[in-house]
Amino acid sequence: MVRKVFLKMSKKYKRVVIKLGSSSLTYDNGKLNLIQIEQLVRQIADLKNQGHDVLIVSSGAISAGMGYLNYSKRPKTLPEKQACAAIGQGKLLHLYEKLFCEYGYAVGQILLTKEDFADRERFLNSRSVLNELLSKNIIPIINENDAVVVSEIKFGDNDTLSALVSTLIEADLLIILSDIDGLFDKNPQVYQDAKLIEYVKKIDSTIESLAGDSISNVGTGGMRTKINAAKIATRSGVSVIITKSDKRNVLNSILKGEKTGTFFVEESHQLKLRKSWIAYNARSKGQIIVDRGAYQAIENNKSLLPSGIVEIYGEFSKGDVVDILFKNHVIGDRKSGS
Ligand code: GLU
Repeated sequence: MVRKVFLKMSKKYKRVVIKLGSSSLTYDNGKLNLIQIEQLVRQIADLKNQGHDVLIVSSGAISAGMGYLNYSKRPKTLPEKQACAAIGQGKLLHLYEKLFCEYGYAVGQILLTKEDFADRERFLNSRSVLNELLSKNIIPIINENDAVVVSEIKFGDNDTLSALVSTLIEADLLIILSDIDGLFDKNPQVYQDAKLIEYVKKIDSTIESLAGDSISNVGTGGMRTKINAAKIATRSGVSVIITKSDKRNVLNSILKGEKTGTFFVEESHQLKLRKSWIAYNARSKGQIIVDRGAYQAIENNKSLLPSGIVEIYGEFSKGDVVDILFKNHVIGDRKSGS
């Protein structure tokens, strides 16, 4: 039964985002894992040959820089991390370019910050450039622009970034490759009888409670950020698979519909692109405080009239996203699109 669902789903995966975690690209000491990178590039080139549109969200910049500068542990200070990212990003791209070139493909580097998603115009511009690259058969390789971001404009982890990119370009499938097999019913490092959860129909609080944090020396995300990413993507109509990067021909197996890792089904009542942008990316430009009558009207899907407004904060104009509050609580659930 589950297998049938996999097979059915695999047919419609034209546009695929592949997230490669730092632990899949570098060793614990930050040196590049050449064997692993080579086999991933080969598999991705093969997916391209099969006619899939592929975008890569690649981590590994900070760890590759760390390896080059011989840090034994991930640095703590921002300038150190940024210096590592500046060095490592170049090294990674150089390697990707060289390896993909052997299979006849070119890559296009896109480094993003949260601001590129928060501003509607920049959001749409990022979308256009990615679509343009795909239309020219180029493989976009995306990372956070770690060398310049500070915490206020940081996604923080590439699991989240890969989910947002998947919604941005309306991907069919997001594959998160990491050093873990998928989501387990309990911590597999502690419990020998932990079982892999192969199929998740809905990410509810039980599923969320199974996620723990990362233990890798080089990566940022743990299962928690992966589940959160799966939630964002499935909510926007993108299926998600979390699995291990070093399984033989893992990408081909997934696209052939074979059971691999944990599969998260996309929601059928998905958010449209604009609502998804409002839910996960847009920055609120202001706050409108309303009275009880207006609150009740909004709860009943009616429009907000000027007479129901008590106070307004912030500067905003037509088309901007604002929060509406009643009694210090934001009305509506942006994440559910209501
Ligand atoms: N952007 C970071 C890097 O390239 C990785 C963030 C993450 O591990 O999720 O090093």
